[in-house]
Amino acid sequence: MGADEPPILVSACLAGLATTHNGVAKPNSRVMELVRQGRAILVCPEQLGGLPTPRRAAEICDGADGADVLAGEGRVVDMAGVDVTAQYLRGAREALKAARLAGSTTAILKARSPSCGKDRIHDGTFSGVLHDGTGVTAALLRREGLEVLSEEDLEGPEP
Ligand code: SF4
Repeated sequence: MGADEPPILVSACLAGLATTHNGVAKPNSRVMELVRQGRAILVCPEQLGGLPTPRRAAEICDGADGADVLAGEGRVVDMAGVDVTAQYLRGAREALKAARLAGSTTAILKARSPSCGKDRIHDGTFSGVLHDGTGVTAALLRREGLEVLSEEDLEGPEP
């Protein structure tokens, strides 16, 4: 990731912004260092999709994942049973728009989020159980050719 490479798309919560559903940040020192160096652009797909902060937790239900949601075969539902699939899809498309605008080829997204999770997400039962699958934004970015990493993939000493 050299200085002449395009900016990396990063989850805003990893950069220290309080964007999560319960209104907190999930700061990661390596992601924050990329931002300090001007090498990252920040997106929160759920906010870009029009959801408020704080907001009710949501999960992709019925064993589906983000790829299924993109295919019209899965739904995202919040803890009150409200279908928020449209907002999740909108947020994913907006995040992709930002990536294309900046020329990003890599994204570093928050692990296990129904939007940003890249390989493990909650199973839709709101019981803390994870299963294999991607979040909606991670699935779209990967489908469109970006390399999708999570903060857990970052290596090297803390900056
Ligand atoms: Fe973070 Fe992504 Fe959730 Fe926004 S949608 S709070 S960026 S994990």
